[in-house]
Amino acid sequence: MDIFQAMQQRGHEQVIFNYDRASGLKAIIAIHDTTLGPALGGCRMLPYANEEAALTDVLRLSEGMTYKSAAAGLDFGGGKTVILADPATDKSEALFRALGRFIDTLHGRYRTGEDVGTSDQDFVQSLRETRYLVGLPVAYGGSGDTGDNTALGVIAAIRAGLFHRFGSDSLQGRRVAIQGLGKVGYHVARHAIEGGAEVVAADINPHVVGRVASELGIEPTDPWTVLETTCDVFSPCALGNVINTDTVEHLDCQIVAGSANNQLEHDHLADRLLERNILYAPDFIANAGGLIQVADEIQGYNPDRVTHQVESIYDVLSAIFKEADVRRQSTLVVALDHVKKRLDDVHQIRRIRS
Ligand code: NAD
Repeated sequence: MDIFQAMQQRGHEQVIFNYDRASGLKAIIAIHDTTLGPALGGCRMLPYANEEAALTDVLRLSEGMTYKSAAAGLDFGGGKTVILADPATDKSEALFRALGRFIDTLHGRYRTGEDVGTSDQDFVQSLRETRYLVGLPVAYGGSGDTGDNTALGVIAAIRAGLFHRFGSDSLQGRRVAIQGLGKVGYHVARHAIEGGAEVVAADINPHVVGRVASELGIEPTDPWTVLETTCDVFSPCALGNVINTDTVEHLDCQIVAGSANNQLEHDHLADRLLERNILYAPDFIANAGGLIQVADEIQGYNPDRVTHQVESIYDVLSAIFKEADVRRQSTLVVALDHVKKRLDDVHQIRRIRS
């Protein structure tokens, strides 16, 4: 890969390769855009097939963080870290302390926390080396797990979609199909059931499905057909790229609204969703609840302020759905126009010197 070309294409400012011989840490930090403020974004740990796959992931994810923060009205830029290692076998105190020391060299230009493959406990080790962390456990001054606030944002997105499509945002009697019942999907299922929805859900871990089925009364289905379930709302809450040129033709829903990052394999799939009359809640808006929570932690955590901001995802999406109808364009195109306008506006304001 031509790294500078890739950075230029996506608009990245900085990519940092970190290697620590003693702990074996190999990590890439990508800072996409700091127009709005210092970069913020989680740290993913995965046994990537090769370095190019890791680099591609961190570039794409950090760009998404810029848009997520901008759409949520936050004053943070986009960044992300990937650790090239297996979370099941390669975690150690030394590895996360080494990562902490590298994060510290950026002096607050970038903050990180848990993501796929890492946990808040891992960053308790990093905290010994840097204070530029978010999403720490409550006992360490953090705001705790972000799963429920992310789920509340997804529920706000679902309700906004239901109102736009059916004229009522009630979940009563609606059929919601959820892919993935982890930290976010579980709470999406719980809130949907509390709202009166019928929930059909799948997870690749059969123990998780069994536990959630007996606890919440969801209808279990298998991971390969959940996407094709006839329903009002399909909620992808597992991994990215779930909607591709093949699967997009099999969706049997009115609305797509979930927590997974990069749900569309390519942006142009948003046009196909529009052609198929499926209302898409852009992922970087629907899943911003966790980011809103950890961003608030930096200013002194206030749960009421967080709830208010998470609920505003409803209004942000309602406006985008309406504008997309008027412009006859996909919701993704309209959402990206909104975030780029905010970035431009703030960029212009920052020309004013004191
Ligand atoms: P998680 O790891 O706790 O849960 C993911 C679940 O999906 C797991 O139970 C896993 O077994 C299941 N799964 C994986 N592949 C599957 C498949 N093909 N079909 C069905 N189930 C599958 O992760 P999470 O924190 O719940 O996050 C879910 C998604 O939301 C991720 O894409 C994450 O990046 C995104 N996200 C999470 C947060 C957050 O606050 N946790 C915030 C924003 C975005």
